[in-house]
Amino acid sequence: MGETHRSEAGVGTLTHYINGKPLDGTSDRYGDVFNPALGSVTARVPLATVAEVDAAVAAANAAFPAWSEMAPLKRARILFKFKDLLDQHHDELAELITREHGKVFSDAKGEVMRGIEVVEFACGIPNLLKTDFTDQIGGGIDNWNLRQPLGVVAGITPFNFPMMVPCWMFPVALACGNTFVLKPSERDPSASLRVAELLKEAGLPDGVFNVVHGDKVAVDALLVHPDVAALSFVGSTPIAEYIYTEGTKHGKRVQALGGAKNHLVVMPDADLDQAVDALIGAAYGSAGERCMAISVAVAVGHVADELIERLTPRVKALKIGNGMDDESEMGPLVTAAHRAKVTGYIDAGIAAGAKLVVDGRSHRVEGHEDGFFIGGTLFDDVQTDMTIYREEIFGPVLCVVRVPDFASAVELINAHEFANGVSCFTSDGGVARAFSRQIKVGMVGINVPIPVPMAWHSFGGWKRSLFGDHHAYGEEGVRFYTRYKSIMQRWPDSIAKGAEFTMPVAK
Ligand code: NAD
Repeated sequence: MGETHRSEAGVGTLTHYINGKPLDGTSDRYGDVFNPALGSVTARVPLATVAEVDAAVAAANAAFPAWSEMAPLKRARILFKFKDLLDQHHDELAELITREHGKVFSDAKGEVMRGIEVVEFACGIPNLLKTDFTDQIGGGIDNWNLRQPLGVVAGITPFNFPMMVPCWMFPVALACGNTFVLKPSERDPSASLRVAELLKEAGLPDGVFNVVHGDKVAVDALLVHPDVAALSFVGSTPIAEYIYTEGTKHGKRVQALGGAKNHLVVMPDADLDQAVDALIGAAYGSAGERCMAISVAVAVGHVADELIERLTPRVKALKIGNGMDDESEMGPLVTAAHRAKVTGYIDAGIAAGAKLVVDGRSHRVEGHEDGFFIGGTLFDDVQTDMTIYREEIFGPVLCVVRVPDFASAVELINAHEFANGVSCFTSDGGVARAFSRQIKVGMVGINVPIPVPMAWHSFGGWKRSLFGDHHAYGEEGVRFYTRYKSIMQRWPDSIAKGAEFTMPVAK
C-alpha cells in the first residue's frame, strides 16, 4: 500500500501519489482515518496544500502530450494488464475498503468487481472512439468527426465507494487519452493509493494518474486551476452544486453527481416475500451508506400493514458486526460524527410524529464497544413534510410512507427534489410499463431494488441528484471525457476557381 511511515503518535501516515511515486505531505494538516468497527485511528492522511495540488496537475499536464498521442489500442493494453492486477488483488482491495469504510467484506468485494467492470468496458476504447465518416458530401469534399481528449481531468470522490466511484471516472478518462488527478475521500483514502500502484505496475507512464489527498483547500485549488480541463464529482448535493457552479464558472466541463432519496414502491400485486427481501438488502446493506440505497418504502393500498408486520422481525434480526467476520450482514457507520448525524435524524423523526417501529440507536456490538455501530431502524406513517422523508439520512433507516394508489405513488416520488434511483415491485406488466415511463428519476428498477446500470450503460440521476449534461461511465462517459470535432476535407483538384460569397451548400 502507498508507503506509510510511523508518526510520533505511532500511527502510519499516508502519502500523496504524484508523478509515479509516493510523496509525503508538506502541509501540517492531517485527517484521521478510522477503522469504524473498532473506533480507532489507523492512519493519518495528509491534507494537501495548493502547491501540492499544483504539483499533481503539473505532472498530469506534462504526461498529457505523450499519453494522448499513444494509440488507443496501446492504452487499452495497459488497462487490460491493470484489470488482471485488480483480479489478483481483489481480496486485498476489498479488505482495505472494509477496514476504512466498515462495509462487510463480501459487499466490498462486490464494490471492487463493479470497478473492474468499468475497466473492462474501457478496454474496448479503440472501438468506442471509432467515429462516422461521410464520403462525398458534395464537390469532392468528405466530412468526418473525431473525439479528442480534454487534457487534465480531476476526480473528486465520496467515502461510500472508495474504489468503485473512482473507477466510474479514471478508466474511461484515461482510455480516452486524458491524464487524471484523483482527490479521494479523506475518510477512506488507502484504496486509491493501491490503485495508483497497480496502474504503475500495469505500465501506466508516470504522471498519467495522480492521487492528491485533501479537503476543501485541495478541491478549491482544482476548481480554479487553469490546466484542469474537466471535473468529475460524486458526493452530497450541496457540494455537487458548489462544484458544478464554481467549475463551470472557471470554464471547465463538469459532471457532479449528488445525493439521493430512493423510493421502492410495493404494489398490492407484488410478491411480498420478494419485496421484503429486496427492502432489507437495499435499505440496510452497507448500513444504508449507498447513493442507491432504498430509504423509503411506498406501501400502496392494503399492503402496508402486512409489509410492516413482515419487515419488523427482519430488521430486528439483522446481523451487525465487524465487516471482516463471515457472519455480518451490516457493518458500522463510517465515523462517530456520521453516527451522531443519523441518530439526530431518528430523534427528529420521533419528534415530528413518525411511528418508530424498530429503534437502532442504542445498538451495541459485543467486543466492539468503541465501534461506530447503529442498529437497523424502521419508521411507519412517515409524512412528506418530515425531515426524515425530505433529506438524505445515509444510514440504516427505512421510512414507510402509505399511499392509496399507484397514481399517488408516482406523484409522491416525482415531487421529491432527489431523483437518483427508484424501484417498483409489481407483477403487472402494465403497471411496470407505466411506472418506467412516468417516473421522473434517472435509474429505474422493476422488481430490481438497486438498479445500478452495468458498465456499458451509464449511471446518473435527475433533478438535484446530478448537475451536468452527462451521466457517468458507459458511452456517456466517453462523451464527457472527449471533445467532438468535425472535419471537412477536399484536395486541390476538386477546388473550383474563384471566391464564394454565398453560404456553401452541397453541389
Ligand atoms: P461529501 O460531499 O461530504 O464529500 C465528497 C467529496 O467532496 C470528498 O472528496 C470531500 O473531501 C469533498 N468535500 C467535502 N466538503 C467539501 C467542501 N466544502 N468543498 C469542497 N469539497 C468538499 O460526500 P460524502 O459524505 O463523502 O459521500 C456521501 C454522499 O455522496 C451522499 O450524499 C451520497 O448520496 C453521495 N453519493 C452520490 C452518488 C451518486 O452517484 N449520485 C454516489 C455515491 C455517493
